[in-house]
Amino acid sequence: MPKVLILSGAGISAESGISTFRGGDGLWENHNIQEICTAGCLDTNAEATKKFYDARRADIKDKEPNHAHKTIVELKQRFPHAISVLTQNVDDLFEKAGMQRDEIVHLHGFLRELRCRECAMVLDIAYGAQDALTYKRCPSCHGELRPNIVFFGEAAPEYEKLIHALNECDLIVVIGTSGNVLDVTYFAQLSEYSILNNLEPSDAIDDRYFTKVYYSKATEAIDSIAEYIEEFLKE
Ligand code: NAD
Repeated sequence: MPKVLILSGAGISAESGISTFRGGDGLWENHNIQEICTAGCLDTNAEATKKFYDARRADIKDKEPNHAHKTIVELKQRFPHAISVLTQNVDDLFEKAGMQRDEIVHLHGFLRELRCRECAMVLDIAYGAQDALTYKRCPSCHGELRPNIVFFGEAAPEYEKLIHALNECDLIVVIGTSGNVLDVTYFAQLSEYSILNNLEPSDAIDDRYFTKVYYSKATEAIDSIAEYIEEFLKE
C-alpha cells in the first residue's frame, strides 16, 4: 500500500481561533520571538518565557478542533498504517478530535507537557500554569522543569521521524505552514505526489513543485484533499 504523510502547521488551527506565528512582524501574540522561544531564553528570560507558555496553555483549553482536524483523524483511523500525521503545532486539537498522543508526531513539542531539564521525564499538566503545580521541580530527580517545546536553535529529536516518513511516503500533504521553519518545497520534491494548502502563497514555498495547490481555508480544502488521499490509497 502506498504511504501518505500529512504535515500541518499553525494555519490548520487558525480557524479554531489559535493565532498563527508570523505576520511578517516577527511577533507571536505580541511577543518578540527572540525573547520567548529561542534557545537560551530559559536562562536569560525565564519568567517571561514561562508566563508566555502558561498563557498559550490557558489559551488552548477551550479551543475546539475544526473540520480539517476531524477529517484527518477520521482518515488516520481508516488507514492507520498508510497515513503518518506529523505537525509543527504545539496545540492539542488533533488529540481533542480523537487522536491518541502516540498516533501523531508533534515535531516542535506539545504545550500541555513539561520536561525535566535533567532526566528528560515528560509530564502532562493539561492547561494549568507551571508555577501553580503542587511540585515545583521534577518529581523523579528534582531537576528543573521547562515547557516541552522546541525553541529555535535547539535540537528537534522528533525530526528523525519526519525524515523516516519523508523517505517512505508516496504522497505528501502540507497544510497551513508558511515553510519558514521546514523546507516543504524540498519535501515535495522527495515525494512522487504532493498537495499544498495554505491561505495564500508564501515567499518561502515554491508551489510549482506541488502536484496540487489549494489556496483556501483548510476547512474548505480538506474534503477535496481527503477524497484525493482516499483515491490514492485505493489504487
Ligand atoms: P506560520 O504561522 O509561519 O504560517 C501559517 C501558514 O498557514 C501560512 O502559510 C498561512 O497562509 C496558512 N494559513 C493561515 N490560515 C489558514 C487557514 N485557515 N487554512 C489554511 N492555511 C492557513 O506557521 P508554521 O509554518 O506552522 O510555523 C510556525 C511555528 O510556530 C511552528 O513551529 C509551530 O510550532 C508554532 N506555532 C504553533 C501554533 C499552534 O500550535 N497552533 C500556533 C502558532 C505557532
